[in-house]
Order: sequence, then structure tokens, then C-alpha cells
Amino acid sequence: MEPRSSEPWNAGTVEHWKRSVEFPLRGFSRGLYSNWLWHRPLQLVIDAGEGLPLALGSSVYAPAVVAITHGHSDHVLGLPGFVGARRFGKGAQEKPYTVLHPRGSPGIDAVRQAIEKLWIGVSFPVAWVAVEPGATHSLDSKRRLEAFSVAHVVGEPSIGYRVLESRRRLTAEHAGKPSAEIERLAKSQGRDALMESFEHVLFIHSGDAMAIDITNAMDADLLVHDATFLGADERREPVHATSEEALDVACAAHVRELVLNHLSVRYERPAAIDRLRQQVRRSGFPGPCWLLDDGEFIPLSDPSRAPAAS
Ligand SMILES: [Zn+2]
Repeated sequence: MEPRSSEPWNAGTVEHWKRSVEFPLRGFSRGLYSNWLWHRPLQLVIDAGEGLPLALGSSVYAPAVVAITHGHSDHVLGLPGFVGARRFGKGAQEKPYTVLHPRGSPGIDAVRQAIEKLWIGVSFPVAWVAVEPGATHSLDSKRRLEAFSVAHVVGEPSIGYRVLESRRRLTAEHAGKPSAEIERLAKSQGRDALMESFEHVLFIHSGDAMAIDITNAMDADLLVHDATFLGADERREPVHATSEEALDVACAAHVRELVLNHLSVRYERPAAIDRLRQQVRRSGFPGPCWLLDDGEFIPLSDPSRAPAAS
């Protein structure tokens, strides 16, 4: 018999709740096998493990950017199928898109060679862009994708990605003043004198990594973080984060929503999900939290917390 989950809510309610909002993500995560995430509103795919083109189906033409975190096989072997499906499927075959990847990645080199050999002489409307931490790629007039440094393995360069949105707000000097006073100041000084520009983190993905530097994730709407292990004593080499480390990052950075993924296949699922729910409760993380496991977003937090992803 399966261990009884300690979940305090009704699974049917969770399903209803998930369907009742515009859930922006689809994905798949199984370490060693396949990892990918499709953020539909941003038209952004992070990593391209096996099964990506099949799962996207007719949406295969939608992504404008595929951002690869590193060249391990479980993150890149869906690329030949993706590139082929877009080039030869019944859709916008000439629609351009960009594949960002870490500079000097042996895994990406191997996949590009495979694509060239699979379809000799065929050209694809894809721009391959090698990036290093700090590099940015414009998504639209207000949003940019930025690569940041993470710690994974030696020999396969790895990066995380975050999406930054340009916003305007009242300067610290004026924030909190009554609106009547703001209007009076705006008339006398001009509204621009009261405002400052800043960049808000809409979305951040660690890729495979140890705990990321929290400065990258401050006030992010949504963090997707490696949680291969449930405890540090179950980790032999410092190449993947634990769920507790990921929760620490999310709490310290005041992240609004958290998705844990890449949970090791060593863990028996019902017991691991129970343990994760206890960890989330203990951490005090106040927002919605999920485990992405295979193709399922499994709620780890109380679903009465309003989802905030947009
Ligand atoms: Zn990896």
C-alpha cells in the first residue's frame, strides 16, 4: 500500500483551482532523462530534453527563444526533434527563433553536429547564440532575458536565466505620500521628476545547479529551482541543490511563487512529496509552491494561497 499523504486538502479542489487560473507553465522534469519548461506568456522554453516537440504539438511554432542552461543530454536531446518539427511540420516553417546556450558547451556542439548530419544541406531559421553570465537577449521592448552564473559540474559550462521587465515607480523620497500631494508635485515639477526606472524579475530558472545567488532572484514573481536532493547528507558531490536550499533562496529573495524540479529518481514519490510538503510548511515560504515531476505540477503548499504567476 502507498504511504498515506499528509496533505490537508482535497486533490479534486487542487485540480479545479489549477484549471481556474491561466496556468502559464508546461514542463517535464526527470533528472537523467528529460528536462524542459515552456513559459507560454513569455514564449520562452528553458531547456530541451527529449519529448519537448511531441509535448508542444501544434504549439511547437510558438516559442521565440529556447534557452539552454547546459549541454547535458537530459537538457538538449529534444533539440533535433524541435528544430525538425518546426522546419518540416505544417506551420510557420520560416518563422525565426533563437537558441541561447552557454559558450563552449560540448553538449550543444554535439547536438548541432547531429542536426547538420541528420539534414544535410537544409537550412533552419534558427540563430544559435553563445552566451556567458551577464549576457542579455531582448524579448520585446520592455523585457530581456539575462544569463547568470551558476555552479553545476566541471567541463560543461552551465548558466541560469532570468527575465527582467523595465518598470517605473515613485522614488523612495516620494513613495508612500498621499496621492493628492503626488498630484500637486507632479503639476509643479513634472511627473518624471518623481519617478525612477527599475527592473523587475518576472521569472528566473536555475537550470541544474547548487543554490543560486539570491541577488539574482530578489522579489521575483516566479522561481524554478533545482531540488535534486531532499537533504544535504543525501548528496555526494556539490552539483545539485537540495529542496531545503531552494526554499531558503525563495524565502530570502522574497520570491512570490516557487517550482522545484529535477528531483532525483532515487526517491520513492509519495514519501518524497510528503517530505517536501513538510519542508515547505517548515520553511514559512508564504507563496504557492509546486514540484514539477514528469509532466505534473504537484502542489506542495496550501492551494488556498492565491496564485500570482502572470
Ligand atoms: Zn546537468
